[in-house]
Amino acid sequence: MFNNLSERLESAFKNIKGEAHISELNIANTVKDIRRALLEADVNYKIAKEFTDKVKERALGEKVINSISPGQLMVKIVQDQLTELMGGTEASFNADGKPAVVLISGLQGSGKTTFSGKLANYLKTKKNKAVLLVADDIYRPAAIDQLKVLGEQVGVEVYSEVENKDAVSIAQNAIAYAKEKGKNVVIIDTAGRLAVDEMMMNEVANIKAAVNPNEILFVVDSMTGQDAVNTAKAFNDRLDFSGVVLTKLDGDTRGGAALTIKYTVQKPIKFVSSGEKMDTLDIFYPDRMAQRILGMGDITSLVERAQAQFDEEQAKKLEKKIRRNSFDFQDFLDQLQQIKKMGNLKDLMGMLPGVGKAIKDIDISDDAFKGVEAIIHSMTPFERANPDSIDVSRRKRIASGAGKNVNEVNALMKQFDQMRQMMKMMNKMPMGMMKRMTGM
Ligand code: GDP
Repeated sequence: MFNNLSERLESAFKNIKGEAHISELNIANTVKDIRRALLEADVNYKIAKEFTDKVKERALGEKVINSISPGQLMVKIVQDQLTELMGGTEASFNADGKPAVVLISGLQGSGKTTFSGKLANYLKTKKNKAVLLVADDIYRPAAIDQLKVLGEQVGVEVYSEVENKDAVSIAQNAIAYAKEKGKNVVIIDTAGRLAVDEMMMNEVANIKAAVNPNEILFVVDSMTGQDAVNTAKAFNDRLDFSGVVLTKLDGDTRGGAALTIKYTVQKPIKFVSSGEKMDTLDIFYPDRMAQRILGMGDITSLVERAQAQFDEEQAKKLEKKIRRNSFDFQDFLDQLQQIKKMGNLKDLMGMLPGVGKAIKDIDISDDAFKGVEAIIHSMTPFERANPDSIDVSRRKRIASGAGKNVNEVNALMKQFDQMRQMMKMMNKMPMGMMKRMTGM
């Protein structure tokens, strides 16, 4: 995510990092490089200039503190400014009502329908809401089908009226239906056009006037940079929306949209979406995003994702197994499944400090575990539970069953053995030390 921007900022800080003192000259040089980095990320000139003027002003005003180097000081100032530019703190999302109504707007292809499915999934699983999805597109029957498929995937009912050609009445009928069925939240996915046009704007504005939504979200493809910001302006002028959703952050996005939408329309980014899987929706935290941009990673989000996937019961069971030295291949397989559920591997690794940049050109697909999984799947339940039973002839059979060669099986056995040795060592440690190391 935003790899180019991160790299350019890092090189902007490189020069000042070697300096013993902060001076007008080294500040000026660094600031110039920072401005160039922002422009390259598709931030418009006015915002980039204002940003760097503020950075400069603060840097010049800082008292020299002996314990902080000029490099650290500049990074901190830029981190604060980036956070502020993106909105400071996270924005609230209002899903309370009888039912609460969320209107989804945006251009066709921006990711509206995908996001509607993700939001339904989020509200259902994280907020315990009874959700109704509404396919309010009277032009493209395919859009209705698409939402139905997503609704089925996340287990949320989808309301549609194929024969009705009045988008306003579909929305009203859907809300009446939701009331009748005791739903808490209605998400209305509206039609999009390829470009901003009068008819589309009128239609969404009419739906807004008729249903009085709690939230109007504007969905925008972050890959479109400055265009995204201009479209946001056009939608906001007509709709006065309550928040922005940035999609496709998993792609090769330069960062301009994320950095400047808030500044331009004075509306917060509420969610970011990074992938086509239904569980890749995140609340937008300006401070965490600033950290990621500066290559500091985002450990907080990583831990939260892990917590959401690993339930406590399972963690306790696992702990017991480790303590009794009975961690086996089935447990190993279960752990792999858990990690996969946390999301796209590259995305996860990008949350580790300094790792995002290092892996930007490496293709880490979600298939990375496939080989290991195939080998474990080729073991019998007895073998999985009794790794020590896996002798040479069993290894041969496992390899041919998994379509692998014996060396690959041997390598996995060796790794597994090392893992168990580590666990044994941990068991010999005093309790407190192990707790500190593992958080268990
Ligand atoms: P809509 O026309 O605004 O409803 O857009 P869709 O939800 O149909 O999305 C358009 C395309 O973008 C589809 O192929 C989606 O699978 C894809 N898409 C949507 N959100 C994301 C995302 O966050 N990341 C990626 N990589 N693709 C996305």
